[in-house]
Formats: sequence, C-alpha cells, structure tokens
Amino acid sequence: MKGLKGKNALITGASSGIGQAIAIRLAEEGCNIAINYRKSPEGAEETEELAMQTACGQVEKCGVKSLLVKGDVSQEADIIDMVNTVVEKFGSLDILINNAGIQKECPSHEIATQDFDNILSVNLRGAFLCARETIKHFLSEKRSGIIINISSVHEIIPRPLYVSYSISKGGMENLTKTLALEYAEQGIRVNAIAPGATITPINKAWTDDPEKKVIVESHIPMGRAGTAEEMAAAVAFLASDEAAYITGQTLFIDGGLTLYADFREPWSA
Ligand code: NAD
Repeated sequence: MKGLKGKNALITGASSGIGQAIAIRLAEEGCNIAINYRKSPEGAEETEELAMQTACGQVEKCGVKSLLVKGDVSQEADIIDMVNTVVEKFGSLDILINNAGIQKECPSHEIATQDFDNILSVNLRGAFLCARETIKHFLSEKRSGIIINISSVHEIIPRPLYVSYSISKGGMENLTKTLALEYAEQGIRVNAIAPGATITPINKAWTDDPEKKVIVESHIPMGRAGTAEEMAAAVAFLASDEAAYITGQTLFIDGGLTLYADFREPWSA
C-alpha cells in the first residue's frame, strides 16, 4: 500500500493475536517495526521471526528493521522509555498502533476497584499516554504522523459482565475523535478499528471449544469469526496514504455483528 515503505511503526502488545498480525503485515508493507511486549520476550521474538520471514522471504537483508521493546502500557515511565527508545533506535516514529488490551469477566456489582482501574489503565489510559508521547515527538519534529487505536465492537455494543472493558472501548471512540480534531492541522491522523469476534488468545474460552464457537458465530451475520490478519489488513490501509483523507473514524470489521443479526428476520408486523 502507498506510503508505508520505510516508515517506523510501534505496535503495543504485539507478541500475540491482532498485534502480532499487525506487526507482520506492516513489515510486509516495508515498515520498520517496534514490537512491544509486557513481560517475557518469547511471543515478541516469534512476531519478529514471522515478520521478517514474511517481509524478506529467503533474502537475508531486505531493509526492514525490527526492534523488541519491553514496556507495560499501564506504567507512564515505561511508555516514555518505550517511545524514546524507538525514536533513538529508528531515528523517528511515524505510526503508533495502540493495540494492547485486557479484559476480565465479573458482575459489575462485584468488581474490585483494582481490577476496574487495571483494565482502564491498560486499555484507555495506556492508549492515551502512548498517543501523548508519540504526538509530542511528531510535533517536536514538525512531522505528520498516524495513530491507530484497536477498539472493539464494544465501543458501541454494551457488554454485561465486562463493564470496564466496555467503558474503555467506549472511551476510545472519543479519544480517537478528540485527538483527530485537535491535531488534524498538524497532519496527524487518528483512527480506530473495531474488531468483532476475532480468533486470538484473548478469546480462548470459546475459540478452543467447538460448541461455544458455534454459538458465538450464530450471532454474526457472515457466520464466522474474523481473523487477526483481516484486522491487520484494515490497519495497514488506515496507516497508508490510501487513507490520507480519513481521520477521526472507527472502522468496524465484524462480519456484520453491529448490524444486529436478530433483525435478519422480520420480527414485528
Ligand atoms: P491478545 O490477548 O492476544 O493480545 C493482547 C496483547 O496485549 C497481548 O500481547 C498482551 O501481552 C498485551 N498486553 C496486555 N497488557 C499489556 C500491558 N499492560 N502492556 C503491554 N502489553 C500488554 O488478544 P487480541 O485479541 O489480539 O487483542 C488485541 C486488541 O484487540 C485488544 O485491545 C482487544 O481489546 C482488541 N479486540 C480483540 C477482539 C477479539 O475478538 N480478539 C475483539 C475486539 C477488540
């Protein structure tokens, strides 16, 4: 896609699932990739290996650079270090993908304050702090830039038993729009994707259970869950110059989930 070759991208939570697929796809498009991971580097190393195989094939050096960056996005100091490290190692940063996210099931009246705070501090506050540090860099270098937030269909669909997750993704919509409006003049584009049910480790509870998978997929008009690669394709598009006039938008990639499958059949006279 136009405009991605040679760009420097930082992807948070890139050691598995959608983040891993995004890192691989951006490398395939010729971006240098900074792969963020939180604790142990194994997953990030796997991302790096797969990305380099995809980007470079058998050629040993194809010009695509990669970097592993440790950091917990719920920790401000880690985020500042992470962005500084990427800028120092790559020389600049062009694209931030706020992908790291967590969830925990619990009835709303029983949620421990610490669990509530933890989910918000990774999914929403972390995304904001990563954006803040990246925007500081864009502005100080007087360069345009791209931020893409990985939201969810739960940006608009309430999700009982996951109130903090729902709040974090609902907040992400306004984070995307507010930053897009505030920095449009500086050439900074901010968009989001909202995946529907996607086959990744976060969904092990139903992806590994054929009966539960059938139930989940029965709610999706297209009849199947999405793949991490399908999410990554949309991210590559939004990060590319093909999307040069798009900002402040959330692109729903959900096989029609937000079209409300229950309304497929006429239900009222
Ligand atoms: P995943 O569990 O594979 O990925 C989440 C990643 O975030 C992991 O690599 C994890 O290590 C990382 N992470 C967690 N806490 C972190 C922290 N404090 N600092 C840095 N990294 C941290 O699941 P996924 O499905 O690939 O999720 C990626 C994003 O997509 C999340 O934001 C999730 O909410 C969103 N999403 C997923 C689905 C889905 O169905 N899979 C649907 C909608 C939205």
